[in-house]
Amino acid sequence: MSIRTTCPYCGVGCGLAVKPQGRTVVAAGDPEHPANRGRLCSKGAALGSTVGLEGRLLHPMIGERRAGWSEATALIARRFRAAIERHGPDSVAFYVSGQLLTEDYYAANKLMKGFIGSGNIDTNSRLCMASAVVAHKLSFGADLVPGCYEDLDLADLVVFAGHNAAWTHPVLFRRLEAARAAGQRHVVIDPRRTDTAEVADLHLPLRPQSDVRLWNGLLADLIQRGAVDRAYVAAHVSGFAEVEAALARDDQSLAAVAADCDLIPADLERFYAWFAQTPRTVSLFSMGANQSAQGVAKGLAIINAHLATGRIGKPGACPFSITGQPNAMGGRETGGMANTLAAHMDFEPESRARLARFWAAPAVAERAGLKAVELFDAVAEGRIKALWIMATNPAVSLPGTGKVREALKACPFVVVSDVMASGDTLDLAHVRLPALAWGEKDGTVTNSERRISRQRPLFDPPGEARADWRIVADVADAMGFGEAFAWRGPGQVFREWARLTAYENQDRTLNLGPLVGLDQAGYDALAPVQWPITPAGEGTARLFVDGRFQTPDGRALMNPVAPQGAAIPLDGAFSLALNTGRVRDHWHTLTRTGLAPELCRHAPEPYVDIHPEDAAAAGVTEGALTRVRTASGEAVAPARLTDRQRRGDLFMPMHWTAAYAPAGRANLLVGPTVDPRSGQPEFKHSPAQVRPY
Ligand code: SF4
Repeated sequence: MSIRTTCPYCGVGCGLAVKPQGRTVVAAGDPEHPANRGRLCSKGAALGSTVGLEGRLLHPMIGERRAGWSEATALIARRFRAAIERHGPDSVAFYVSGQLLTEDYYAANKLMKGFIGSGNIDTNSRLCMASAVVAHKLSFGADLVPGCYEDLDLADLVVFAGHNAAWTHPVLFRRLEAARAAGQRHVVIDPRRTDTAEVADLHLPLRPQSDVRLWNGLLADLIQRGAVDRAYVAAHVSGFAEVEAALARDDQSLAAVAADCDLIPADLERFYAWFAQTPRTVSLFSMGANQSAQGVAKGLAIINAHLATGRIGKPGACPFSITGQPNAMGGRETGGMANTLAAHMDFEPESRARLARFWAAPAVAERAGLKAVELFDAVAEGRIKALWIMATNPAVSLPGTGKVREALKACPFVVVSDVMASGDTLDLAHVRLPALAWGEKDGTVTNSERRISRQRPLFDPPGEARADWRIVADVADAMGFGEAFAWRGPGQVFREWARLTAYENQDRTLNLGPLVGLDQAGYDALAPVQWPITPAGEGTARLFVDGRFQTPDGRALMNPVAPQGAAIPLDGAFSLALNTGRVRDHWHTLTRTGLAPELCRHAPEPYVDIHPEDAAAAGVTEGALTRVRTASGEAVAPARLTDRQRRGDLFMPMHWTAAYAPAGRANLLVGPTVDPRSGQPEFKHSPAQVRPY
């Protein structure tokens, strides 16, 4: 018999119908799950190759010694308490992950922000969509994703802004291909000619970091063509005049914008005309927009174009932030980011008081905590005395990987909860805690279209591995907070979370009140549902259909954004722009997909993509080992000469770890530059040089 669950990889959140067979599975797409309607990509289809127990961490470890759970949790509680008593609550931190289930996220956030009393819990989602979160809040008043996957079917024009959907969200891309076969148009805005760009109706290979200029140019063009929906703006949008005045500061002629973006004017004109003529337009934006020192500005510029044309809250029309991980939104909702509290609350006194009442919490955090990059800077500077990392591998995935490793080595106390026994981050831990993996976990995730789905267990927990929420609860108990964490199962955690969203909250947007009454059977049987949820338990496909937003006056806000160019410009020494990203068949730092031979075949090793003319100028040849240097570090990988790269641009994938390819770790090359508003790192533009190895 098949068990219905959810894929552990990307934010599409595909439903699976899985047959366990011994310690492996046969995974098929769930035809009844609305996100994928039975489809799966290569990663989901290969899950059976990734669920074995080889390399798993099955017992708590203190150093190299096997320990019992009570000894390990007592040690963690003692070290965290000692740091807090001596240096204050901001001397400890959690760094968590979009791989956590919502129940795990909720528990970790409650412990740090409600009971320890610090905002220092951040998540690897900071690397994913933090810029979109800020853009949503500035434009809509809250971090709300307006659209849904059905809009992808209904749109007549889909714009992929820095989004290689063919590789990063393959099941959605199949859906979009089907729509394109029925007449939908695709425009890709991306410096690289990706697989998504290769088959698009129009590819705009813009100069890296000129996105805001392009989108501002679009808005100016829409104004000039009379394509602004004046009635919608008058009724529902503020800030239009300010944005229009800001646009007038730059030359918005097609020739000037095309020159600044390094695009063919006729191509740009075609895009602008299509956008103006197509009411049903969806603009997807993903890592190419978000992972930038101006990621917030890019998101705002995209949203501005949609607000000005009233293309939001309508079938087939919205700006749509597409995110990376399976729990694309659960962490954002439960307060897993350092600068938010749970349920879309910020740190203002009323929200803190609301949380304190609900949790009967002794010490709700007074202010936002450290965001990922600054958190590890604080570790390096000795300000963090105890750090707990859950389900993520920052020694590979954060920018400035070398510095992160040094910081972890110097940190007085590092705990890592993970499914694996060793790895770049795990090897630097003082205590390793065995967590449940996909197939063992039991809880919920929320995908990129606000849809809550169940991840259900297929296997018994191996060894002494435990659910992350339970590990957090055990440590909370050992710290003396046990009563507030005395859940007996994930269903109880979920119900408490749902109760919190409804507590003293008349707003129905992120309000899971209708799910509060779920009993265990109801939780077990929970069908995929999109919040907001009606009192009758029905999901909601689109937000803002009535033109009301979450701002105090109910109006959306257009925000002026100025083009900035690259945060760190190219120069004589580092004259190439290095972009990093994913490959089609691998996920994050290879913990799972590295186990599947069928997934390793597509990209068996790191590489650096380079335009043939740049390669010739540097003396680099096809397949030859090539040294890539930036101000932050050095990596070595075989070169692939391809005119899919613009002249002057490089691309390296980011997955490989010290165990797989120590010299090929792309994040050794990425510097600490972040968007000042979102804290999201600049993964897409590091000034670099290449030479033969
Ligand atoms: Fe679906 Fe993403 Fe999993 Fe592929 S990786 S099956 S697209 S959720």
